[in-house]
Amino acid sequence: MSKPLILVLGDQLSFALPTLRQTPDNAVVALCEVAEEASYVPHHIHKIGLFLAAMRHFAQQLREAGWQVHHSALDDPDNTHSLIDEAERLARAYHCDHILVVRPGEWRLWDAMQSRANSTIPWQLVEDDRFFTTPDDFAQWAQGRKQLRLEYFYREQRKRSGLLMQADGKPLGGQWNFDHDNREPLPDTFTPPQQRQHSIDGITREALDVAARHFPAHIGRIDNFNWPVTRQQALTELDDFIAYRLSDFGRYQDAISDTEPYLFHARISVALNIGLLSPREVCHAVEQAHLEGLAPINAAEGFIRQVLGWREYVRGLYWTQMPEYKTRNGLGFQRELPAFFWDGNTDMRCLKRAIEMTIDNSYAHHIQRLMVTGNFALLCGVKPEALCDWYLAVYADASEWVELPNTLGMVLHADGGLMGSKPYCASGKYIDKMSDHCQHCRYSPKQVTGPKACPLNSLYWHFLETHRPELNHNPRMKLIYGSLDRMKDEKRDAMREQATQFLDQLTSAPGYGQPTHTGGYYSD
Ligand SMILES: Cc1cc2nc3c(=O)[nH]c(=O)nc-3n(C[C@H](O)[C@H](O)[C@H](O)COP(=O)(O)OP(=O)(O)OC[C@H]3O[C@@H](n4cnc5c(N)ncnc54)[C@H](O)[C@@H]3O)c2cc1C
Ligand code: SF4
Repeated sequence: MSKPLILVLGDQLSFALPTLRQTPDNAVVALCEVAEEASYVPHHIHKIGLFLAAMRHFAQQLREAGWQVHHSALDDPDNTHSLIDEAERLARAYHCDHILVVRPGEWRLWDAMQSRANSTIPWQLVEDDRFFTTPDDFAQWAQGRKQLRLEYFYREQRKRSGLLMQADGKPLGGQWNFDHDNREPLPDTFTPPQQRQHSIDGITREALDVAARHFPAHIGRIDNFNWPVTRQQALTELDDFIAYRLSDFGRYQDAISDTEPYLFHARISVALNIGLLSPREVCHAVEQAHLEGLAPINAAEGFIRQVLGWREYVRGLYWTQMPEYKTRNGLGFQRELPAFFWDGNTDMRCLKRAIEMTIDNSYAHHIQRLMVTGNFALLCGVKPEALCDWYLAVYADASEWVELPNTLGMVLHADGGLMGSKPYCASGKYIDKMSDHCQHCRYSPKQVTGPKACPLNSLYWHFLETHRPELNHNPRMKLIYGSLDRMKDEKRDAMREQATQFLDQLTSAPGYGQPTHTGGYYSD
């Protein structure tokens, strides 16, 4: 009788996994902690701790539910520390004749697994049906379209899912999109919502200790770890969001605070991406909260657009465009990552705080990622592979299928405009409007040149000037190029010189991504 080894990856921790729904009684379930996956980029220590703790809890729950489970721990002497080799070793050890696995989150692994389809112990890949759409659904939607705009994809998703829809097929609230209501900065005084402190049980404690012991040079401190590692904890995070943060999620979605990392955001990407929550259940919970009068339509729609729209859209893009997508560099960027991305050691307050919060929590909210660190990298021309590796390493929710389109496509405009109709570039004015950072900064967002001028201002115009050949023809950039053209030559020259001087003194992280044992990064 056929006997499968069901490989459950660290971001597939769900009983709803298709491979776990209908399997023979003789199946063996394998979860593998392997050093190769924990260190191919220098992941934040919270991210490694999260995976180890959540996998160990899930293995225990599977055992309690009656499954035969093998959990390869990092400390196991026989562990091969390569995912493919370890699964095949276990399949041989348990006399399994094939390996069953759900589509992984990275093309790299998918390709390696596909290439083993005809090996002695063949690998069989199963589609992941926990998303609203499969890559095939997305490919069908994309077929024949010149532009793959989120807005059109999102409307289809609303119709298909029925979320926030009226019986007559029209969107609830009379509009598809309430984005224009969702751009308020924070008021001068406000009480930030409390964040839940998740309990650390024995399994989690041990997993965090193992992470800290094996990866001592990775960024972050393990002692302030606070991510949900079980479905129960993930559900409490979702409940808290709906009870205390959802109603203001929309209006303050784009706001940035000098002190508060999470504001009114959901903090659920981590649980969603490793399988502890499903996108369907979170969208339905938010829709229900709106129907019960607990959240206004702009909040519910804003949230559902992120999960039903953006999250599915970037995944569709990833799977239909890879592997070529990863090589794109539409604006020809060549700069290495600035060194301060690893330690926050910069006098630009907005960047300092976004990076410090990232190091502290393995989290930054969307606008910090897009408009602070992302915008700076765009204006400086950081090369896609350097920036993508950083985002993949530092955030606990980072998985390549979601990180890559956001970084390469949305932030760096490196995909030739496939994802965004124009680059998300901004000067210090934007940060000043949306945050309180500038009040604490040694630079002034109002000055463009001179010793106190916000570096983002000259970099912004320098970026536009440098990339005029690629961007000039874009109708959405017409207005801004008009402003540039109306400037006096002397002003343009002074701005160019200011930006060039700034870029010349910017130190890169040589050999970024290579952890040293002193906590820094070096090249060899
Ligand atoms: C450069 C860059 C890199 C990013 N890398 C990742 C990543 O590796 N993993 C990841 O999950 N998200 C990534 N995002 C998207 C977004 O920043 C995070 O999903 C969000 O900050 C997670 O925090 P939250 O749960 O509090 O989100 P909220 O702001 O509360 O949003 C709710 C949910 O919507 C979804 N969502 C929101 N925006 C996006 C988006 N642009 N793409 C996909 N899903 C979205 C997430 O699942 C999120 O949990 C990235 C964004 C940028 C600009
Ligand atoms: S002045 Fe410029 S560098 Fe300083 S916080 Fe404001 S936007 Fe950032």
